[in-house]
Amino acid sequence: MTAEKEKLMNALAGEVEDLTQSPLADYRRENGYHVVVGEGSLDASIMFIGEAPGKKEAETGRPFVGASGKVLAELLAGIGLQREDVYITNVVKDRPPDNRDPQPTEIALYTPFLLRQLEIIEPKVIATLGRFAMEFILKQFNLPLEGEKIGDLHGKPFVIQTEAGEVTVIPLYHPAVALYNRDQRKTLEEDFQVLRQHI
Ligand code: URA
Repeated sequence: MTAEKEKLMNALAGEVEDLTQSPLADYRRENGYHVVVGEGSLDASIMFIGEAPGKKEAETGRPFVGASGKVLAELLAGIGLQREDVYITNVVKDRPPDNRDPQPTEIALYTPFLLRQLEIIEPKVIATLGRFAMEFILKQFNLPLEGEKIGDLHGKPFVIQTEAGEVTVIPLYHPAVALYNRDQRKTLEEDFQVLRQHI
């Protein structure tokens, strides 16, 4: 199973590398950056979805390896998990210049890749990291919660129907919020305990 999954994921990574329609792909080539497709176990039951790679991620081709990645690793350790136990990816696979928000056309271009990743991994749980990824999933799966704020929805699981069956979505704050705010860190720790109950 994993060999087949690896084959599918490698093919997907090649397609993202070869994208020509994306201004972010041009930006990647001009700067010698890498695509950041995702990392972790292809058999993971939890898939974390962030927004888009930052500078460090684009330089290394790995998701969440900067300051937010350190927080994410600590939060995972707090519930007895390591990065290798889960799959970590982003909605957008190339770094937007100066960390600007990805534009709707860019999101549309990268969306099919994320949906294919969901089909390959078939996670039981999707944990969105930050407002952007949460809103993306709400919209993508036509959820009535669309338009609600992360302040209300974080740590509250809900179920979506995917091609592969029912998946529980748990919206989480982005780990970056914990860098300078102890209260937000505590909230994230509490929400990770919710996540723990679903694995
Ligand atoms: N922030 C994200 O949303 N994704 C990353 O990969 C890194 C930082």
